[in-house]
Amino acid sequence: MKTIGLLGGMSWESTELYYRLINEETKRVLGGLHSAPVAMVSVDFHEIEQLQAQEDWDASARLLSEKARQVEAAGADLLLICTNTMHKVAGEVADAIGIPLLHIADATAMRVKASGIRTVGLLGTRFTMEQEFYRGRLEKSGLTVLVPDDEDRAFVNRTIYEELCLGRLNSASRQEFLRIIDGLHAKGAEGVIEGCTEIGLLVGQEHTDVPLFDTTRIHASRAVAEALK
Ligand code: GLU
Repeated sequence: MKTIGLLGGMSWESTELYYRLINEETKRVLGGLHSAPVAMVSVDFHEIEQLQAQEDWDASARLLSEKARQVEAAGADLLLICTNTMHKVAGEVADAIGIPLLHIADATAMRVKASGIRTVGLLGTRFTMEQEFYRGRLEKSGLTVLVPDDEDRAFVNRTIYEELCLGRLNSASRQEFLRIIDGLHAKGAEGVIEGCTEIGLLVGQEHTDVPLFDTTRIHASRAVAEALK
């Protein structure tokens, strides 16, 4: 099995989940005491969040490229950036390393399309819901993407940074997410992408009949499949 490289800490609440999911999937496939060879570098999310707030994507790209090279030097054969939002600089990071980068939006689009769904809702940070690097990439793959209105996008974005990335799981926020998911469904979304790696901690498939696509789970299982090729 190849060594899976994780560029984590964005936030660590979801990186912890990546590590668990990758090992659970490896154990499911290989059995016994098997676990996944993993090389991880975990950043200080405070620093990343400041760069995001300033929209300083050049500095973000430099920082994450340097960390990605460290992951490669630690023996990784492929790299995951363990967040949707920082795929904003995925191109620069991919150019800085000599191992393949498994893009979270590509893995997700593939999974959505395999389910037969063509119109999908997208929840994530404001960057992910609004910008070309993510929403546009899904659309280029052939999906029609619906996002919540301004007020609900602001709520989702705020909840990610002020609650989920701090490990706060609040049932009132879950109800709001479910209302927003229902709203997207009513507008024609056949399913909803949880396009932020912490959303699955708050809202799971057990909470709704609308099909959910949890990017953390999709990305982690795709990594194991690639590592076992
Ligand atoms: N983990 C989140 C995501 O998947 C948000 C944190 C970040 O801004 O990187 O987008």
